[in-house]
Formats: sequence, C-alpha cells, structure tokens
Amino acid sequence: MSPFVAAEDRYSDLPYRRAGRSGLKLPAVSLGLWHNFGDDKPLDVQRAVLRRAFDLGVTHFDLANNYGPPPGSAESNFGRHFAADFRPYRDEILVSSKAGYLMWDGPYGEWGSRKNLLASLDQSLARTGLDHFDIFYSHRPDPDTPIEETMGALDTAVRSGKALYAGISNYSPEQTEAALAALKELGTPLLIHQPRYSMLDRWVEDGLLDTLDSHGVGSIAYSPLSQGLLTDRYLDGVPADSRAAGASPFLTSDRLTEETLATVRALNDIAKGRGQTLAQLAIAWVLRRGRVTSALIGASSVAQLENTVAATANLEFADDELAGIERVLGR
Ligand code: NDP
Repeated sequence: MSPFVAAEDRYSDLPYRRAGRSGLKLPAVSLGLWHNFGDDKPLDVQRAVLRRAFDLGVTHFDLANNYGPPPGSAESNFGRHFAADFRPYRDEILVSSKAGYLMWDGPYGEWGSRKNLLASLDQSLARTGLDHFDIFYSHRPDPDTPIEETMGALDTAVRSGKALYAGISNYSPEQTEAALAALKELGTPLLIHQPRYSMLDRWVEDGLLDTLDSHGVGSIAYSPLSQGLLTDRYLDGVPADSRAAGASPFLTSDRLTEETLATVRALNDIAKGRGQTLAQLAIAWVLRRGRVTSALIGASSVAQLENTVAATANLEFADDELAGIERVLGR
C-alpha cells in the first residue's frame, strides 16, 4: 500500500462531543478493535478500515489487552498499522486500552489488583509501541480487590504519564460511585465509563447514566449495534462471513430468535422512514439528545464503517419517532 496521507477534509463532518465535564472531546463515533483486528483477519482490510476511519474524522481507537484472537494480537496489529500510517498524527488520535479480563496464567493475569493493572499497562504499551495511552480502563469491577487499590493503580497510570485519563468499564452505578469516591481521594478525575448500550440492552438507563451525569463523567457505549443484530446483516439469514457464523463465542446464531428478528425488521422499517439504514438508526438512537458521549462501534469492512459513521448526518428524533421505537421494543 502507498504511504498514508490523511484526507484534508477529515474534520468537516463528524461531530465531537465533550466527555462529561472534562476538557476532552470524543468523536460521536469511535472505532473498537475487539473483533476484526486479530491475527485471524487480513492485515490489508484492517489497515484500510483504520485509514478510512481516520479520514472520516474518527479520532478514537479502543483496544484492550485481550483483544484478538489470539489475545494481544489486536494491540500488536494496531501497533503495526500505527507505525506504518499514523505516527505523524499521534496528537490527533486517542488510543485507549484496558486490563481486567484474563490475559496471562497465574494469580496476577486478570481482575483488578495493582499488580495486574500496571503490569498489563506496560505489556499493552509494548505491544502497541506507544509511549502512553490516552485513556486506560479498569475493564471490569473486581469483587475481591478493594476499590481503592484498583483506582490507585489507575491514578498511578495517570501520574506516571503512561495514561492521560482514567476510565472504568462494566461497573454498576454503586460500583461507579465507589470508584469515584476513591479517585476523588487521590485527586484523579474519572473521565469516562464504557458500558454496553443499545436498543436491545438498556441497563444503563436504570441509574448509570444519571450517576455519570451527576458527577460530570462521560460515557462511551459499546456494541451499539448489538454486535450486528441491529443492522441489515441478519435480515435474510446468517451470512457465512458474519460474526454469528464465526468462532466468536459472544454472538451465536441462537440469539437470532424469531422474536428478535421481528423486532429488528420493525426497526428496519422505522430506519427506512428516516432515510437511514438500521445501523444508522441504532447509532443515532444511542447518541440521542446528548446523553452518551460516543458510540463505540465495530466494523469488518470499509463499507460497514462508512455506512455506520454516516449516522451522524441525522441524530435528531421527533418525540413521536422515539415513541414508535419504544412501542417496537415493547416498552
Ligand atoms: P457493534 O455493536 O458495532 O458490532 C459490530 C459488528 O456489527 C461488526 O463486526 C459487523 O458484523 C456489524 N456491522 C457493523 N456495521 C455494520 C453496518 N453498517 N451494516 C451491517 N453490519 C454492520 O460493536 P462491537 O460488538 O464490535 O463492539 C465495538 C467495540 O466496543 C469493541 O471493538 C470494543 O472496543 C468495545 N467493547 C467493549 C467491551 C467492554 O467490556 N468494555 C465489550 C465489547 C466491546 P460482522 O463482523 O458480522 O460483519
């Protein structure tokens, strides 16, 4: 591939939204590398998706130690693409990583100890070739480690300059309050929470978004397309190259019940009425009325990425449109 020169008009379309009461703005759509960037996926497709994302104004790429397969390979592959294409643009890009899920053998390879988080942070920096992450997350709450210890590790990550901001993911409202209290004691703000959120999974509406709002913490919603269910991907069966047909244990074809497909078809009709694809409707809905800072998507092709990012051309909803969606969702 020829050397990458970023598009001059890359900042003309995508909105940027402030993460809570921080100084940091995130693109309304961010790209995650959980799937589609492991050693099982062609490097040229990965590279094309990353290049196109940046050209569209997607300035945020989200990683974790264990993304692959195999675990670690998404960070190594990102490091390769970063070195080839993005190094001159480092200060235009936000890269995040996380620790907390199983990464290496023995008692220190997962969860929320200081030992796990800080060792994992160094490993992730080595794999990506970066000298710091913009955001470093505790990937999940650890019921057996004092929250002060886990947050202390995030505080150290920030104070050491290996991360610019601290984040948490998958914490309940109560766990978030505890994390906030511990970080406040240490004097390090909590930038952002990364929860799962889509039209098919709305747990964040039962308190978490209120908690984040009241403390001025941003939010980045992962799997806003419900891993592809909230797109046209499965409307006519299960394509051979889809996540549900592949080896990922996280989306299996038994999720595609008649009931879910009926909901997806009805949402697809609403999307058409708005002149959007279902993927675009799903993203606009997650971002509606500014409660969520960014929608954190995946994409297995440039075409999918372009389609999804174009959601930001219409993020507005009339009240009756939202009510129609609630009816389809059985609410
Ligand atoms: P999505 O819900 O956006 O699902 C992405 C998948 O949907 C793609 O791989 C593709 O499926 C399909 N798709 C995407 N765009 C389109 C389109 N326009 N038309 C048709 N199909 C489309 O997100 P992910 O589940 O991939 O998660 C996104 C990111 O969130 C992750 O990469 C990661 O960064 C983060 N995450 C964080 C977690 C945490 O615990 N903090 C957990 C999970 C994710 P196909 O591959 O079949 O083509």
